[in-house]
Amino acid sequence: MGIATVNPATGETVKTFEPLTPEEIEAKLAKAQDRFLEYRHTSFAQRSQWMNKAAEILERDQVELGKIMTLEMGKTIKSAIAEAKKCASVCRYYADNAEEFLKDVPASTDASSSFVRFQPLGIILAVMPWNFPFWQVFRFVAPTLMAGNVGILKHASNVPQCALKIEEILTEAGFPDGAFQTLLIGASQVESIINDDRVKAATLTGSEFAGASLAAAAGKQIKKTVLELGGSDPFIVLDSADIEAAASSATAARMLNSGQSCIAAKRFIVAESVADHFEKLLVEKFSALKVGDPMDEATDIGPLATPDILDDIDQQVQKSVAMGARVLIGGKALEGAGNFYLPTILTDIPPNSPADKEEFFGPVASLFRVKTLDEAIELANSTTFGLGASGWTTDPHEQERIINEVEAGAVFINGMVKSDPRLPFGGTKISGYGRELGIYGIQEFVNIKTVWIK
Ligand code: NDP
Repeated sequence: MGIATVNPATGETVKTFEPLTPEEIEAKLAKAQDRFLEYRHTSFAQRSQWMNKAAEILERDQVELGKIMTLEMGKTIKSAIAEAKKCASVCRYYADNAEEFLKDVPASTDASSSFVRFQPLGIILAVMPWNFPFWQVFRFVAPTLMAGNVGILKHASNVPQCALKIEEILTEAGFPDGAFQTLLIGASQVESIINDDRVKAATLTGSEFAGASLAAAAGKQIKKTVLELGGSDPFIVLDSADIEAAASSATAARMLNSGQSCIAAKRFIVAESVADHFEKLLVEKFSALKVGDPMDEATDIGPLATPDILDDIDQQVQKSVAMGARVLIGGKALEGAGNFYLPTILTDIPPNSPADKEEFFGPVASLFRVKTLDEAIELANSTTFGLGASGWTTDPHEQERIINEVEAGAVFINGMVKSDPRLPFGGTKISGYGRELGIYGIQEFVNIKTVWIK
């Protein structure tokens, strides 16, 4: 499938798009480079004004933007509208804080004056996925443009209208022509862009394969990358936890975006003493979810974004079951049009089955029982991923152990993992490297220049 809007709820191809030609890509890169030479000298006050205006537009048009997201990738309309509003928050956060985050940092040395200065690099390429088609882009755009860089976007091929709309919003907000451009291109056209001297760095959110391929190309050119890849986040529930709260949060954490989130809790690791109670509540809560038309305000679970994702998740479930996993609820696709999969809980997970080791990018929970905290931590760390982790216990000693010993870019205690503009976001192990958001996010794509004056 080329670049197209295909409604995941019906399978209908709504609109197709031609990828840019090499000449068109060249014109966009030339424009971005010309723009950077002026844009880098604009003041923080000016950039903040444009960024705040972008936030206003996102809020003003939240329903229209929500409908585009839902049409293209199937997230529920209520979550799509919430996503537009969250994008406004990241715009305001960097509009308010970028100057402070990037001001000179003095250092006491043998010089009469020495300090660190942060300077923009130039054109930054973002390769982004479809799962949060606005949020993933705005959390790149807000720090990147506020730092004085210019951005180009290669968005996922199934969300072209989202991609074009984002450029429109930033243009309407007042950013100069070329400060941010969407390139409608396929994945095979990315490498030549990375190889272009004018492009200074790249960030990718998506699969391990795509991340490795981008990073390999960038590595050959000695260009920095930030990678935000998959996860198979553990959600550890221990004896002292509030089981009702944990089960509600577990449901929200697993079902976020119909299960298509890198930081969704995927492996539920529960102490034996509370496991029956937790399992019963989880089954009840999964059963109560309404699967259906994502444009309907009452729907909790929409279709998966593409038929391939539906096939992948079903194969992972069927393979796990064939190896010995037991289905507590769900375990199959809905019949009829659209990429709908039933909320599913697997238990008695066999070692090395997909439910044990792989990322499930859909509404499927794997439930494990453990006897000790040692066992819980060992299981939590037994995948190649290391994105987020959630731990449920009121015991401070157990909390400390989870914080210190679970291999993850984020640990949330008695809450679900979520992204917040004020906190850094990113992974360890095969979940990637580098950080988005917070002060660390804006400092990824700048030249951290040492200045020493005798
Ligand atoms: P991909 O990694 O294939 O797509 C993400 C982005 O990377 C898209 O823009 C895609 O473009 C682009 N891309 C794909 N291959 C390359 C490449 N070789 N070089 C440069 N860019 C590339 O994700 P999928 O959408 O196919 O999803 C597959 C899996 O990825 C999921 O099951 C999940 O594990 C993971 N994923 C993780 C996400 C996260 O939030 N961390 C988000 C989405 C997916 P194009 O669409 O044109 O192929």
